[in-house]
Amino acid sequence: MYHQILHDTKKRGIEVGDVKLNLQQMMSAKDTSVAGLTKGVEFLFKKNNVEYVKGTGAFADKHTVQVNLIDGGETTLRAKNIIIATGSESTPFPGLTIDEKRVVTSTGAIALTEVPKKMIVIGGGIIGLEMVSDACMEMWLWLTTYPGIRMVETRR
Ligand SMILES: Cc1cc2nc3c(=O)[nH]c(=O)nc-3n(C[C@H](O)[C@H](O)[C@H](O)COP(=O)(O)OP(=O)(O)OC[C@H]3O[C@@H](n4cnc5c(N)ncnc54)[C@H](O)[C@@H]3O)c2cc1C
Repeated sequence: MYHQILHDTKKRGIEVGDVKLNLQQMMSAKDTSVAGLTKGVEFLFKKNNVEYVKGTGAFADKHTVQVNLIDGGETTLRAKNIIIATGSESTPFPGLTIDEKRVVTSTGAIALTEVPKKMIVIGGGIIGLEMVSDACMEMWLWLTTYPGIRMVETRR
């Protein structure tokens, strides 16, 4: 929306004055959305009698998961069948140490505290393209608003 107001709506006959980016407010709105979605899932767990154990799990054997609980302590869960759904992580890049401040994954990119003037996006997959795309959602606006964006991709 911000990008459209800055670069697009005027030529379509919609003039808007005094448009400002409030990054802190934007991050706060993002955090509220994430918290709302997470709480929504917790509510569904409760409603459907799914036990939610918060912690980091590791297999003790093929039917046993040992959990280090977020609130401290440990617990052991056993089941005949176990589904592993631990998601994925960004591939480490040789020579770069990810600090989620200057060298960021997509996780750090949606939590930047200031608008970067220049940025290189490594990887032209869905997420990388989303970050440099004009049709991207608001969170990526700084990447499309400033001219110093470069994308690096190995596939031809
Ligand atoms: C920036 C970004 C934007 C995206 N946008 C979209 C979009 O617009 N639409 C869309 O459909 N998809 C989008 N995706 C993709 C989508 O987020 C993933 O495909 C989806 O979240 C994968 O779900 P998952 O359950 O496999 O893994 P995840 O959602 O990653 O969930 C895995 C969970 O396992 C937990 N976990 C990991 N290890 C352990 C452990 N040892 N013990 C306990 N828990 C553990 C993690 O903390 C995490 O909560 C986006 C992804 C990114 C990164």
